Amino acid sequence: MKRVLPLSLSNFNPEKAILEAASELIATIDLEQRLLYLNPSARHLLSLPQDYDLEQQDLRVKDLHAPDVYRELNEDIFPTLLAGQGRWEGELEFLDFHGQSRPMQMTIILHTDADGEPLWITGIGRDLRRRKHLEAQQRLAKRVFDNAIEGIIVTDGRACIQHVNPAFTEITGYSAEEALGQTPKMLRSNHHDQAFYDTMWQSIADTDRWQGEVWNRRKNGSVYLQWLSINCVRDAQGYIENYISIFHDLTEMRAKEAEIQHLAHHDPLTGLGNRHLLNERLQHAVRQAKVQEEKLALLVLDLGHIQLINDSLGHTWCDRLIRGQSARIKEVVAEADTLVRIGSDEFALLIEDYEAVHDVSQIADDLIRVLQEEVQLGRHQVTLSPSVGVAFFPQDAQNSVELLINAQTALLDAKKSGRDTFRFFNREMSQQARERLKLEQALRSAVKGEGLSLHYQPKVLLEDGRLYGAEALLRWTHPELGPLSPAVFIPLAEEAGLIVDIGDWVLRHTCQQLVAWQEAGYTLPRIAVNLSVHQLEETEFAQKLEELLEAYQLDREVLELEITETGLMKNQNQALQSLRQLKEKGFRIALDDFGTGYSSLSYLSKLPLSTLKIDRSFVIDMARDTISLNIVKTIIQLAHNLSLDLVAEGVEDAQQADQLLRLGCTLAQGFHYYRPLPESEFTQLLAASSR
Ligand code: C2E
Ligand code: MG
Ligand code: MG
Repeated sequence: MKRVLPLSLSNFNPEKAILEAASELIATIDLEQRLLYLNPSARHLLSLPQDYDLEQQDLRVKDLHAPDVYRELNEDIFPTLLAGQGRWEGELEFLDFHGQSRPMQMTIILHTDADGEPLWITGIGRDLRRRKHLEAQQRLAKRVFDNAIEGIIVTDGRACIQHVNPAFTEITGYSAEEALGQTPKMLRSNHHDQAFYDTMWQSIADTDRWQGEVWNRRKNGSVYLQWLSINCVRDAQGYIENYISIFHDLTEMRAKEAEIQHLAHHDPLTGLGNRHLLNERLQHAVRQAKVQEEKLALLVLDLGHIQLINDSLGHTWCDRLIRGQSARIKEVVAEADTLVRIGSDEFALLIEDYEAVHDVSQIADDLIRVLQEEVQLGRHQVTLSPSVGVAFFPQDAQNSVELLINAQTALLDAKKSGRDTFRFFNREMSQQARERLKLEQALRSAVKGEGLSLHYQPKVLLEDGRLYGAEALLRWTHPELGPLSPAVFIPLAEEAGLIVDIGDWVLRHTCQQLVAWQEAGYTLPRIAVNLSVHQLEETEFAQKLEELLEAYQLDREVLELEITETGLMKNQNQALQSLRQLKEKGFRIALDDFGTGYSSLSYLSKLPLSTLKIDRSFVIDMARDTISLNIVKTIIQLAHNLSLDLVAEGVEDAQQADQLLRLGCTLAQGFHYYRPLPESEFTQLLAASSR
């Protein structure tokens, strides 16, 4: 059968069809560099309209390149072609009609006639944009990989190591060559059992990821704690192609936490525990004693007349004396009992599960005897008059606070009866307790009316001593006893359930005062108000405070709320919730007495804080011992890292101020600048600094 061609094929031009279908740029120019032909892909890549008429427009090579590229074409590529090479290959950058860069992989060919005379030049180019983009992404990924401070391990689907980054080497000590081809088992320490790894792999199988703390071993054998996160990458079929492990070393962070904890619980002078440690141990011991029906004895002892020695011989000798006496006490005390230094010349000894009262009095007696022995201080001989007070749990107290108060009451009794003796707390003597009750009643009426006032202690800029703000400190003048320290009546108010009302009074009074200052035309300082954790335990607290400020039409920024670290540690749930709400509403929150609690750094970073206040004890000891100095440095660093404001409390002299300023602390509060001032005096200061 004769085949009939379709009509259209009669004028079929295969070359043209190929040119039009090609995805490459194809362009032909004459020897004057005039564009003779551009295929559709070329028009598309160069953003040229498909109906652009080359004959009419006189488009030249020069129009398609940046000047430097054109120069290269003209001075290098075309001459080489014409000199007989006939072909050039390489990367060449075009500019499209909008001036956008179009990198191309080009092949340029010279056409000649039968005699070898050049006729035209044709260029064929592949768009390189996608490849360039991928290359740029790869470069970026490599940069991240190489510069990450986290160690990174990439393995294949069978956990065989394919890549590690420089941080891996830095942390583990293994070079890339040593690690490649091995499995991450090379880092295992024997800190975890097989069950641990099984759970980890199960989680990866179930969820494609795992995160947690792992103890690993470095090349030098040392074991370190790391935070590890493992993710897996699957291919299109769902098979695991790679595992990516990212880890950072937690050792240093933990060491800092441990250092802060140790410092916060120890007395640098004697190496013994401090008041914070005692509180902790007491609470724990009381809890345990209740459950196991054990008995506790708490002895509080006073070295006697240390102040006289300090005044006459100076504090260096005094420190030496205290250290010496503490060594004597240690000799009398059993290893298992808790011995701490709770004041400059006060020590406490907690004895858990003693046999008989007689044993306790024996210890008290021994303590007095060794402390009465003569001490040689250089050329001087001194003899002290120690006193000891003892209280028992559960006979004398129902909780740890009461136990400590009663032991101290007994100590007071021993001192009153002429020192060099010890006294047991006894019920008849609990005249004290009755006094406390009376105090509590007086406080109840104070909340309603007279007796309370606020003092304001200025906070200043360390740089020039200028006024920055102030802390409102509560004062209570008892009708008979006169002025009492908040350190005494605030705990009482907390125990008696009065603190919320008192706290409300403080907040309201502060607002009234701020409005009065505003009306007098003074620049408002930021006023810090101390909050008890009991106030934060109220679910409505944040809202209540918001309403209060609205009622007085005050900006939230003018208040700062101080909360002590130890207070917060006791109650974490509702108190934290309130703090978060306060922060959300725009209130500023300061962590007071920082360093005395035992919040971990990770816990701290979760708190919604604006400010840290370094506890006074560190500022005092900073000049005398390097540990306190280091802790101050660490806290300053910490505040910088967490972008928190930082106030040093209790700055008492110029030396401390200079040192703090040099260390990078900017704000301070303390007797060196101002004592807490009565309202009228602070108002005068405000008037002067507003002028
Ligand atoms: P805080 O909040 O740490 O306040 C600082 C305390 O250190 C104040 O004692 C202040 O007078 C004292 N201070 C300031 N600078 C120096 C210094 O350079 N050297 C010395 N030695 N002391 C300095 P204050 O006024 O006796 O207050 C004791 C604590 O009572 C406060 O400690 C705070 O926790 C609590 N407090 C005071 N007012 C209130 C209040 O309105 N509500 C609550 N919940 N607690 C309050
Ligand atoms: Mg405070
Ligand atoms: Mg404080």
